[in-house]
This record gives sequence, C-alpha cells and structure tokens, in this order.
Amino acid sequence: MKLESKGQVIPFGDIEKDVLMILRKELYNIFGIEFKISPPLSIPESAYNSRRQQYHSSYLIRYLKKLSGKNIDLTLGVIDKDLYVPQLNFVFGEAELNGNIAVISLIRLKQEFYGFPENKNIFYQRTVKEAVHELGHVLGFHHCTNPKCVMFFSNSLSDTDRKGKYPCNSCLKKISITK
Ligand SMILES: [Zn+2]
Ligand SMILES: [Zn+2]
Repeated sequence: MKLESKGQVIPFGDIEKDVLMILRKELYNIFGIEFKISPPLSIPESAYNSRRQQYHSSYLIRYLKKLSGKNIDLTLGVIDKDLYVPQLNFVFGEAELNGNIAVISLIRLKQEFYGFPENKNIFYQRTVKEAVHELGHVLGFHHCTNPKCVMFFSNSLSDTDRKGKYPCNSCLKKISITK
C-alpha cells in the first residue's frame, strides 16, 4: 500500500511516548505514510460530559478539524480518556469517513481497565489495530465481515484480539490506494 499524503499523530494530554513511537512505525509499515508526532494538545474540557463521565469523540474530531484548517494531513488524535457518541455506551474510536481525521481512546485497550495485570504487548497490538481501523475509515474502507481483517467491527476486545492489523485483500481491492 502506498499513499502520497503525510500524517500526524496528535496526543491529547499526557500519552506515553512508547505507544506513540509504535504507532508511527506501524502506520508507516501498513499505510506507507510518514506520521509525525505532534506536540500534545490539552484536552478540550468542553468535550466532557459530566453526567456520563466520558468525552464526546465527535466533538474531538470537530476540534481537530478546526485546528488543522487547510492542512489536509491525515490526522490521528490519541486520548487516554473514555470516549462516547450519544447512541452508544462507549466507543474505541471514531473516524471522519472520507475526511482526514480519526480519534482513538487508549483507556479500554489496557488490561488494567478490566482488573487484569498490565500487559504492554497486548496493549500495543490493540492500539495499532484500532488506529489502523479508524484511519482505514478515513481512507474510505467500510466494515468487513472477515473476522481476521482489521476493518472487522470490534464489538468487544475479543474481536480486536482475534483480528489482524492489516486490511484483507477484498478490502484492498475496493479502495484505490493512491489519493
Ligand atoms: Zn469501524
Ligand atoms: Zn476486509
């Protein structure tokens, strides 16, 4: 896969550096796009819903959109807070289909969130899959019924853990990769 565009990863708040470096490396391997790591933004408190104690992911996308202005780099926002959209209890991430912005949350990708001991390796793999999935939507990929494909919709982390980090051949055929 080869895309002509550039990318940027924008951390919201304090995001551990090693996960950002892994994202950068894997996104290059998978999409052939150089992602630079931008300086962290402070989390916009207006995205916070105190009743739900979660952040509205669509708000974060609009926020990044406003900031990027005419800059059309592929953008991945990364946050370590729980995200939601009004129709759902939570989301792992959200993407602007055929746009240029996606957001992922790390918090539910960590074993500790569920009371298990920390496991960095599992956390990194999940993070890469969620990032590729959401950026895949931005690039025009839809959900796929192949449970091994990164574009398979994850209802739960067992779906995420079962799938791979690459789009399957049938997904790749539907998309012309050069933008
Ligand atoms: Zn999806
Ligand atoms: Zn697929």
